[in-house]
Amino acid sequence: MLYAELAETYERLEATTKRLEMISILAELFKDAKPEELEKVIYLTQGKIHPDWMGEPEIGIAEKMALEAIARATGLERSDVDAMMAEEGDIGRVAERALSEKKIRSLFYKPLTVEEVYETLDAIAKESGKGSAGRKIERFIGLLANATPREARYLARTVVGTLRLGVGDMTILDALALAYTGSTESRPKLERAYNLTSDLGYIARILAEKGLEAVSQVKVVVGKPIRMMLAQRLSTPEEIVDKLEGRCAAEYKLDGERFQIHKKGDWIQIFSRRLENITHMYPDAVEMTKRHVKAEEAIIEGEAVAIDPETGELQPFQVLMHRRRKYGIEEMMEKYPIAVYLFDCLYVDGEDLTLKPYLERRRRLEEIVEETDRFKLVKALRTSDPREMERFFEEAIAEGCEGLVVKSTSDESIYRAGARSWLWVKLKRSYQSKMVEPVDLVIVGAFYGRGKRAGTYGALLAAAYDHEADMFRTVCKVGSGFTDKDLAELPEKLKEYQIEHKHPRVDALLEADVWFEPAVVIEVIGDEITLSPTHTCAFNVIREGSGLAIRFPRFTGRWRTDKGPEDATRVKEIIDMYRAQLKAITK
Ligand code: ATP
Repeated sequence: MLYAELAETYERLEATTKRLEMISILAELFKDAKPEELEKVIYLTQGKIHPDWMGEPEIGIAEKMALEAIARATGLERSDVDAMMAEEGDIGRVAERALSEKKIRSLFYKPLTVEEVYETLDAIAKESGKGSAGRKIERFIGLLANATPREARYLARTVVGTLRLGVGDMTILDALALAYTGSTESRPKLERAYNLTSDLGYIARILAEKGLEAVSQVKVVVGKPIRMMLAQRLSTPEEIVDKLEGRCAAEYKLDGERFQIHKKGDWIQIFSRRLENITHMYPDAVEMTKRHVKAEEAIIEGEAVAIDPETGELQPFQVLMHRRRKYGIEEMMEKYPIAVYLFDCLYVDGEDLTLKPYLERRRRLEEIVEETDRFKLVKALRTSDPREMERFFEEAIAEGCEGLVVKSTSDESIYRAGARSWLWVKLKRSYQSKMVEPVDLVIVGAFYGRGKRAGTYGALLAAAYDHEADMFRTVCKVGSGFTDKDLAELPEKLKEYQIEHKHPRVDALLEADVWFEPAVVIEVIGDEITLSPTHTCAFNVIREGSGLAIRFPRFTGRWRTDKGPEDATRVKEIIDMYRAQLKAITK
């Protein structure tokens, strides 16, 4: 396949404001690709060369380096290229303009293929060490020499990491379903395989080569992260015991970072809640797994928590965040030691346990883990007595936990990969107050500030995620809770996500001054959830002509960098929260 076809597709994707159109444009592209090319086409379209969880290096060409390459590839003066950048503010437009004004004609022009672009970008990413910047530039110049202006626009954005077509994983799955099965109705089957492997390329290839039936047979693979099972929420032990029909085990809910640990002999990989590969940040956890997991191959889950090196007491989440870094790992490891509390076991030596009930998974976990002070199973209590659960909750809080996660012990209590399921219900302290619990919302737009806030944003338009439709629907305008420093930094922080029109996956009635690609997630708390004609979350669900909105929303100060846009609070949860609130009032 020629790269020109990708560039043309990207241009069409940029122009559309409708998600359905986005899917059919992508489906056309996927149909045209050969099965062995499909994987590359998908990753390139997402602006990358591998799934993030592989932890492979990024392409890593800085804007300045790219400008240098553009100047050298076209024979234009560097100062002219810099001036174009100042005017356009977009490296893609600069590359496009520069190429159409170029002063050098290549003697051996040959059209770029997808294969060649992909291989070159991969080689660029892999360059490291002394002189690597120069070698990266040379390779990029090689690509530009054979690029048309339109291709250059997308190549330049890809190498600096600003392609941002906003094509999410679900959009890709819909487009694959449409391309290879004729309708998006088969998406759930693809989604299941995706939930088990998180590998779009892998699934696309099986689909294209062997068909939908083969996709349904996909199993977990050590090394490919399983999309994590998540919990629902309720506010009292009574409700939880009721919901789980008395068949439940309560576990401490630790306030740290979720780990999914994959082990194959001495090869250990750790994935975060967002499925980032965080192995290199936690050499201590790697070592503990090697030593204390008595299985050749295993996939287990737990929560890593910072502990006080003196007392061994649990520390809050913020302390653990010091460990989230690229450099100085050893030093931070000494300063902020961790303990890993394990709570699930998804695979052991050839056996996929995701469809086994909770009690069996827990038993397997006990069997393969040799417990130590710093690597052990999370404390659990099987009970159907709400008072006993309440005491266990108080005990958890006293020991520095956030609350409980109560898990179903029924025969159906499988590990529901990628789902927020009623098989797990969380009980947090803040839920017991009158206030609405905090939610995690995606920033999709902004409104300019006035007066004291002139020059920055006065409020952000925030949205919840509608998973069925793969859309972001607005729930509030949030303007309070930001410190002066937060406010001053907002435009800069959000700049890279700014787009010219409302994103095709955003559903909003309000006209924001600025639109963003849904990317950044913030934690927001409000006073209550109300009906609102101006917000699109759950529009027409509770009342015709109304959606749901959060009243008096405030930013809690927590940027949820551990969450991707699709991990934000879902529309369905907001509906549940609204209903729970009604119930509480009428009680
Ligand atoms: P939160 O914002 O409450 O952390 P979340 O959206 O990240 O929620 P949920 O599934 O709603 O995730 O809540 C469960 C989270 O709590 C898990 O992702 C995990 O990180 C953490 N956790 C702590 N202890 C446990 C436990 N015993 N079992 C399951 N998850 C636990």
